[in-house]
Amino acid sequence: MSFASLGLSAALVQATEAHQYKVPSPIQEQAIPAVLAGKDLLGVAQTGSGKTAGFVLPMLELLQTRRTAKGRAVKMLVLVPTRELAIQIEEVLRAFGSRLPRPVRSLAVYGGVSINPQMMKLNGTDVLVATPGRLLDLVDHKAVQLSEVELLVLDEADKMLNLGFKEEVDNIFKLLPQQRQNLLFSATVSDDVTEMVNKVLTNPVTIRI
Ligand code: AMP
Repeated sequence: MSFASLGLSAALVQATEAHQYKVPSPIQEQAIPAVLAGKDLLGVAQTGSGKTAGFVLPMLELLQTRRTAKGRAVKMLVLVPTRELAIQIEEVLRAFGSRLPRPVRSLAVYGGVSINPQMMKLNGTDVLVATPGRLLDLVDHKAVQLSEVELLVLDEADKMLNLGFKEEVDNIFKLLPQQRQNLLFSATVSDDVTEMVNKVLTNPVTIRI
């Protein structure tokens, strides 16, 4: 199995080669074609499985043929429980996305630091990686607009719920357009996670690694 056979274009295949990714990991083999096909996805997988590239690569591919983000309206949103994870995912987005034919602009926003620099950087952002509380603060400040989000990722959903972000995440859902693609990743599937899966995903492809 190769990255090209999963439906990624030459530029993204080259990017995987540049990062010494030789073959797709099992979650990538299943996730990449499903995301490219526009499907919702439930990925039950641990960190270390390669799940980040499993969603980042097809997101970047989808963005190659879509209109760029304008102003404060973001196209894709990745919700994460922690600042560390936000930074880590945005680094992967940047590493693979910055030198594509249609460069993808990404930004990580999280709490615990001043909001002003984040507000200033939020302009023409295609993919925003955010922790829930800071995202809602940015919405309150009218620094970000969520009404044009085409694809939502909930990463480490179990941790998000364990850290008490349910209400914030529910409030964020209310700001998103009805029609969108949704990807949810979780290492464990508790009743709370199942409730969120049922609320967010429509006929998902399910991958268990
Ligand atoms: P993740 O599970 O997304 O946190 O990824 C775990 C680690 O595996 C990261 O350091 C990635 O850079 C690396 N990785 C992901 N996919 C591949 C791949 N197909 N080949 C080699 N390394 C990979």
